[in-house]
Amino acid sequence: MAVETDVVIVGAGPIGLFAVFELGLLDLKTHLVDILDRPGGQCTELYPEKPIYDIPGLPIVTGQELTDRLMEQIKPFGATFHLGQMATALEKLPDGRWKLKTDADTEVVAHAIVVAAGGGSFVPKRPPIAGIEDYEGKSVFYAVRKMENFRGKNILIAGGGDSALDWTLNLAPLANSLTLVHHRDGFRANQHSVNQMRELVDQGKIKFQVASVKALHGAGGKLEAVTLLNHDKTEAHLACDTFLPFFGLTMKLGPIAEFGLNLHENLIPVDTEKFESPTPGIFAIGDINTYPGKLKLILSGFHEAALMAQAAFHIARPNEKLRFQYTTSSSSLQKKLGVA
Ligand SMILES: Cc1cc2nc3c(=O)[nH]c(=O)nc-3n(C[C@H](O)[C@H](O)[C@H](O)COP(=O)(O)OP(=O)(O)OC[C@H]3O[C@@H](n4cnc5c(N)ncnc54)[C@H](O)[C@@H]3O)c2cc1C
Repeated sequence: MAVETDVVIVGAGPIGLFAVFELGLLDLKTHLVDILDRPGGQCTELYPEKPIYDIPGLPIVTGQELTDRLMEQIKPFGATFHLGQMATALEKLPDGRWKLKTDADTEVVAHAIVVAAGGGSFVPKRPPIAGIEDYEGKSVFYAVRKMENFRGKNILIAGGGDSALDWTLNLAPLANSLTLVHHRDGFRANQHSVNQMRELVDQGKIKFQVASVKALHGAGGKLEAVTLLNHDKTEAHLACDTFLPFFGLTMKLGPIAEFGLNLHENLIPVDTEKFESPTPGIFAIGDINTYPGKLKLILSGFHEAALMAQAAFHIARPNEKLRFQYTTSSSSLQKKLGVA
């Protein structure tokens, strides 16, 4: 039996969460679906403890704190979360509404669909090292959920992007020893981070080596050492108990690719007035959409959510007028927020 609501949001990342707020202010009820077992998307899955510096009004906030604050902000609107579920199919009903199905057999019927699916179900790229699967989750990790777990470890980090550099800087004070390896002496990361990393190397606090990881040695998932292949093709033995490869993420868009949304390079093209896809009633906001000038920033997604909500209102309440109001001065908005 399908449940009915005003809007279904696919993806409970920061942008899906803020969409609940903007839709809620307009009295639209929402259900969210996310394959992850908790809200926050990339913020909680990839960098819960890392500080974000470009959220307006919050000079510094970690990925987890931002998620917690968004959850608190949307509390008054009582959104229903379907976590640990993949949105698998979308069907247009004869009455013009949409039915979204999940792999847990949840069915939600709504006037509008908001795809806030970010990079899709993101999967880290596994380095091509024989037998690495045996160590995953025990000595080999593709994300840092809790920095404390790495205290006192002998850590090897591989990669040349922001994640590799950021985790090198963040874990250096906690680790017993830390070595960064990259196949060349050049990085795709923020220059400031690269400079900071080089300073730590100069101070003898960490090591950097131009090399790639050729083999892992250990038993029962417990890593003891690796063989490094140096730039000059010589091999070296490095003792370590923790290996963090940061070779980027593979975007696995999954079933959204089958939603008939005319994807362009795995992104959903939208207009910049309503952030609606070419299929009326289906909106796309946050990292999943594309339009001229798109910036994959959280603040851009927040703006997109606000404009999307105005358009979704007219679909869900075709006979009602929408009056623009400020939260500071509207007693009706304040009542909805539970502050009046
Ligand atoms: C290391 C790092 C640092 C960053 N730093 C900053 C920064 O400083 N400032 C900034 O503005 N941005 C930053 N970003 C980018 C920012 O995290 C993204 O722009 C933001 O997370 C996008 O939010 P979103 O809600 O659109 O998507 P996401 O956060 O990707 O969330 C999408 C959600 O949709 C779910 N999903 C996808 N497909 C399905 C499906 N079929 N069924 C169910 N669920 C599905 C996923 O599981 C996910 O939870 C950073 C990103 C990274 C990786």
